[in-house]
Amino acid sequence: MPTNGPRIRREKRTVAAMIELYCHDEHGSQGDLCAECQTLHDYAMQRLDRCPFGEEKTTCANCAIHCYKPAMRERVRVVMRTAGPRMIWRHPVLAVRHVLDGRRKAGTAKNAPPAERAADRTE
Ligand SMILES: [Zn+2]
Repeated sequence: MPTNGPRIRREKRTVAAMIELYCHDEHGSQGDLCAECQTLHDYAMQRLDRCPFGEEKTTCANCAIHCYKPAMRERVRVVMRTAGPRMIWRHPVLAVRHVLDGRRKAGTAKNAPPAERAADRTE
């Protein structure tokens, strides 16, 4: 069941903006993402659709679960490290809200039994 409240939608916008910024700056893309970044983007959106915390979520970086598979996690870390500091200039509103979202306690995954989470991780 996709979670699609304002919190998840904002996280999607933030992640998409960071990947876009990274691809533009590092891969020279204009408008469309390169294939590699598009794959990462789609994966990130899918993870957020399935986030067990839903509207209660903190930022992915602060989350206790780390639902990304290792290869994708490494790629998104590179993107965050590169694009993160540039966000304040390019997307100041999203950047500030992201910092505030990160202060939120991780919350409890009310709608995700542990078994489902474990299965999700190996996907
Ligand atoms: Zn790219």
